[in-house]
Amino acid sequence: MMLILLLLWILISGELGVMKFRIGPNGVHFFDRNTGLNVLLDEFCPHQTVWSKSPRQVSVALTNLCDLHCAHCFAPKHKALLHADQVLTWLKELDTEGCLGIGFGGGEPTLHPDFVDICKRAAGETHLAVTFTTHGHRLTQPLVKNLKGSIHFARISVDGIGHTYEEQRGRQFSSLLRGIESIAKLSPFGINIVINERTIFELDAVAELAQQFGASELLLLPQQATNAVASMDELVGRELQNWVSNYRGKVRLAISEVGASGLPICDPLPNETGLQAYAHIDASGILRTSSYSTTGMDIEETGVMSALKRLRNTLEIKQGTQT
Ligand code: SF4
Repeated sequence: MMLILLLLWILISGELGVMKFRIGPNGVHFFDRNTGLNVLLDEFCPHQTVWSKSPRQVSVALTNLCDLHCAHCFAPKHKALLHADQVLTWLKELDTEGCLGIGFGGGEPTLHPDFVDICKRAAGETHLAVTFTTHGHRLTQPLVKNLKGSIHFARISVDGIGHTYEEQRGRQFSSLLRGIESIAKLSPFGINIVINERTIFELDAVAELAQQFGASELLLLPQQATNAVASMDELVGRELQNWVSNYRGKVRLAISEVGASGLPICDPLPNETGLQAYAHIDASGILRTSSYSTTGMDIEETGVMSALKRLRNTLEIKQGTQT
């Protein structure tokens, strides 16, 4: 079987540029970080012993630091910052074990003093797709110039239009528009919107804005509870379902896993779930199932794959005691 895979890889890489692949319960997944092209060979079901060990995607909070104070923010508020060398060691490990992409966040990742260096090294020293999420107010021309070529996809947060945005984020909407212009020059990009009782009524306007600036994705993020705000309520959830059902815009829609239930979603990898699909590393170097999760493993000196194994064991034991 490995020979067939190798031949396929040679064929596909010759046709489409260098593609990375990972093996999982749904087949063999090829991915080109430069074009975003995914090819899934799902005609056969690889045995579990050959599945890639890394999660498909990993997000990394480079720092907890942020210069905004959004009420819906769930980032921890204590000071924490990852060291560039440490991050690179973990990324190389994940890359070798079949991870396809890394997403830098925070806090605000552009506030990390080595942000550009980390992105450049991640793109140059691994085969991972490098992405990041930003509030967009620090995307100066020199920063964009320095990042160019090291970012495969970027995400910018747009919680409503005009006054609504200014209320949600405490920054001028005009400054955000400059941020969107900058990100459009940097790489393919998507717009993130937190869905709550204010932003739900501005989805049409945000979708239009996304199309106007050439965004390729609109990511819907149903609001999660924090100390300052409640989770998206049922009424807003129903409005969201209606809006999605009637959406005819050109920009692709995506939604976070939390809050996706009841919506028509297309998941090409339905069996690749939990830590096989995704993991999060917080700014203190703790590996978690998501940034909301309270269970985590310190990566320490033993490495990210060892922490992943320990986290899986802990979650299995927890699940066992609950059943
Ligand atoms: S911009 Fe992001 S990290 Fe900063 S306070 Fe707002 S939600 Fe939190």
